[in-house]
Amino acid sequence: MICIPVTSRTNKEALHAVKRSCRSADFIELRMDLIGGKHLAKLMDTARSESRSVKIIVTCRKKEEAARSGKAARPQSAVKNKDEKMALLKEAVERGADFIDIELAEGNEAINELKTLCAKKGGRTRIIISYHDVRETPPLTKLKEIFHQCERYRPAVVKIVTTAKTFEDNLTVLNLIPYARKRSQKIISLCMGDKGGVSRVFAPLLGGYLSFATLEREAQSAPGQFTVHTMKQLQKLLDGKFTEPLSPVVSLRRLPPKNFVLLGNPVGQSLSPLMHNAALKKMGIEENYSACCVQNIGGALEGLRGMNIRGASVTIPFKVAVMEYLDDIDDDALAIGAVNTIVNDNGRLIGYNTDWTGLMLTLKKAITIKNKTFAVIGAGGTARAAAYGIIREGGLPVIVNRTAEKGKFLSEKLECPFYPLSRMDNIKADGLINTTSVGMYPHMDQSPVKEEVLAGYKYVMDVIYNPLKTKLLREAEAQGCCIFSGADMFVHQGAEQLRLWTGIEPPRALMKKIIFKRLTKSE
Ligand code: NAP
Repeated sequence: MICIPVTSRTNKEALHAVKRSCRSADFIELRMDLIGGKHLAKLMDTARSESRSVKIIVTCRKKEEAARSGKAARPQSAVKNKDEKMALLKEAVERGADFIDIELAEGNEAINELKTLCAKKGGRTRIIISYHDVRETPPLTKLKEIFHQCERYRPAVVKIVTTAKTFEDNLTVLNLIPYARKRSQKIISLCMGDKGGVSRVFAPLLGGYLSFATLEREAQSAPGQFTVHTMKQLQKLLDGKFTEPLSPVVSLRRLPPKNFVLLGNPVGQSLSPLMHNAALKKMGIEENYSACCVQNIGGALEGLRGMNIRGASVTIPFKVAVMEYLDDIDDDALAIGAVNTIVNDNGRLIGYNTDWTGLMLTLKKAITIKNKTFAVIGAGGTARAAAYGIIREGGLPVIVNRTAEKGKFLSEKLECPFYPLSRMDNIKADGLINTTSVGMYPHMDQSPVKEEVLAGYKYVMDVIYNPLKTKLLREAEAQGCCIFSGADMFVHQGAEQLRLWTGIEPPRALMKKIIFKRLTKSE
């Protein structure tokens, strides 16, 4: 299992890191000595709403045991003294953190006080007793003594981390794992430092409870940490599950990036190549946009880096899965929880979401969203994009979904109402947006709602663009509603991608003409 330490110095950065980490890790460690205590509640709430399964460790490292990265000075603690630290760890217990980490060196009184509180609170929060040597790796006999000192408190996990001066130090520390396992004691045991990477990769394979990795190389909380992406690749390789080369044979990063791709599966019917290539030509950019049917999105992103591709569109089924392979994700995409656009910024792959901007631009051309209510049918990626955009524009979304559990989860996350699809009749709203695929070619005789319901709405939008006018839109028009086609959204989301990739405003009118012509022809 992989734990990502969150070490950001500002609340905004820490929230961003928490959201991203929840997407690719099993655990997050909130390093409150670096982040500062006052943000604990918000960080924990954010982690909980991002993921129900990720476990939260709250740590407030003693200055003497906090490692430093590279030549940087040991980080200044944002927590002033032991009283403040104890108050923070107690708050973490009160708030139901999964683990708190307390150093062995904090002594009997502090450890027992925290243990008593955890027990009083029903045992929801468990204790990690830790020991860090930031200078060296003591001999195995000494480490076993330390292990026993930790073990006598009967913690959920013992953590012993030392600094590797030689590669052999990794072996010393890894020896503790089978030793602890024989005694049925969970253990985190690894080495820091440039020579300690071996233990970070091998520890989980040998049965260590977890290992630490970072979102980005620059975000190390201790020297020698790999990025999550590298860690997962290395573990797969050692586990015999990796079938592709780790990195492309030739790196072309020094050349300016060229060309654009669509990554999805299937992609055969996509109109994006037609639209993007026409726009690129009009913009005077002699580059090509092509569709790639992808089996393995992680491998495809390595290809993107290696072939120095300038940008990519991401479509079904990879909009969520792609997030863990990116170097950074823009705030809007992170809040939506899906990426449909990747920009290659000198080798750094950054994720964006233009579905929500495309949808908003379509509606905003004709109406003001502020203070209006929209029933959003569906609870998938496009529903999240629609609801997020409505909230950003000052409107109120109402989530309507076939599967109640999924719909409720989204509505709780966005703090908006939820209705099951079967109870649509009870909703009073200005607009309705279909984000499901019901009514899409070749099922053009289907609609997600009964025609009678539509009379109650002024505006009806369908995100489906094939056919241009779905059954839902035809019936809404017959009821006198103002209708919006998914084809306009498709054009705008594509135009926003081109703007992100090139920095130039694309020819939207031409793009629309091409798409409408093609769709009219196929009807
Ligand atoms: P998704 O994540 O798979 O979500 C689909 C949603 O539709 C789910 O909530 C699902 O409900 C619901 N659904 C599916 N079949 C249903 C049925 N027979 N009855 C009722 N509800 C049903 O898909 P997505 O990525 O959001 O994409 C949805 C649609 O948006 C696709 O058709 C896609 O082509 C379109 N889209 C268009 C644009 C554009 O530019 N115009 C951009 C992006 C996406 P459950 O939770 O009950 O399964």
